[in-house]
Amino acid sequence: MNDLLSRLVNGQSLSLDEWEALISCTMDDSELFALARKARDEIYGRKVFLRGLIEFTSFCRNDCYYCGIRHSNKHAERYRLEEKEIIECCIAGYEAGFRSFVLQGGEDLYFTDERMVSIIRAIKEKMPDSALTVSIGERTEESYRLMKEAGADRYLLRHETADREHYSILHPASLSFDDRIKCLENLKKLGYQTGAGMMVGSPGSSFRTLAEDMLFIESLKPEMVGIGPFIPHHDTPFAHCRMGSVSLTLRMIALVRLLDPHIMLPSTTALGTADSNGTIKGLEAGANVIMPNITPIGERRKYTLYDNKKITGSEAGENIAALSSLLESCGYEASLTRGDCIRQ
Ligand code: SAH
Repeated sequence: MNDLLSRLVNGQSLSLDEWEALISCTMDDSELFALARKARDEIYGRKVFLRGLIEFTSFCRNDCYYCGIRHSNKHAERYRLEEKEIIECCIAGYEAGFRSFVLQGGEDLYFTDERMVSIIRAIKEKMPDSALTVSIGERTEESYRLMKEAGADRYLLRHETADREHYSILHPASLSFDDRIKCLENLKKLGYQTGAGMMVGSPGSSFRTLAEDMLFIESLKPEMVGIGPFIPHHDTPFAHCRMGSVSLTLRMIALVRLLDPHIMLPSTTALGTADSNGTIKGLEAGANVIMPNITPIGERRKYTLYDNKKITGSEAGENIAALSSLLESCGYEASLTRGDCIRQ
């Protein structure tokens, strides 16, 4: 076995240079993936946790260069679900069996703390045995606190990259790396199960920036990490940039699994979009979460962060029976439980 890999498996810390060497080395990843699956199976077994994803607003005040719903994209179709519709969406998901929901959206100022608190309370009151994840970007510590008190269990806020300079290549000057990191620290402090994560192969990324991501994850100790390939969107400044590598994305998933085997790792929609078999490949590299989309189908098409987003395949909420049998045929078991991160 690669010496660095065996040190990682033995729980030893790697330096930045060592991470870079491990991420960039030429090796057959089948051994790495087998180790990652073993680490996952020892904690979570062969269960794949399903979370119903509701993309409830495509309005966004930000202008991230990679994202299709960036504020400056005049071609983006904007929509927002009203409180009642969001709750109905969860109820329909609940009736289909889901006990874990993710409310994701752009940074839409319409959703004030008051509105978010009301939505979160209503969902938790009607479905108290469900876990609720919120993912609506950067907000004040007070806002995060109010949503936590209203019943939110988890918060997803990808750090996007742990390299300051790379962060400024991906975002306009109005968005700061320090603010992003501060938000993640606040979420952890408030007791959220916190999700960080990054795109692989986004413009300006390198093996070095990915190595920095690993050190950042090691220090933050998030409960979840979302990793997907960068996929260009035709109406963004990065329209002509290359898509991130699927194999490198899979390698990163496996390495995060080995770095901290307890982390909940989704096999992301971007991975399933970049590769027709990407969802299963993600699981085979150590992921253990899938987030089927339960947004009303008319709106789902409008939430396009990148081109060709998969919306109606086995990852669609209405097809969980098909997804369950696909998982079963690959030796996995779909789990519709809350799916909390198990910490030692
Ligand atoms: N507004 C929220 C939700 C963002 S969308 C927030 O700021 O957290 C969720 C994730 O999609 C982003 O964090 C980003 O990592 C990913 N994403 C956006 N555009 C993408 C693209 N072009 N290719 C791949 N992933 C993308």
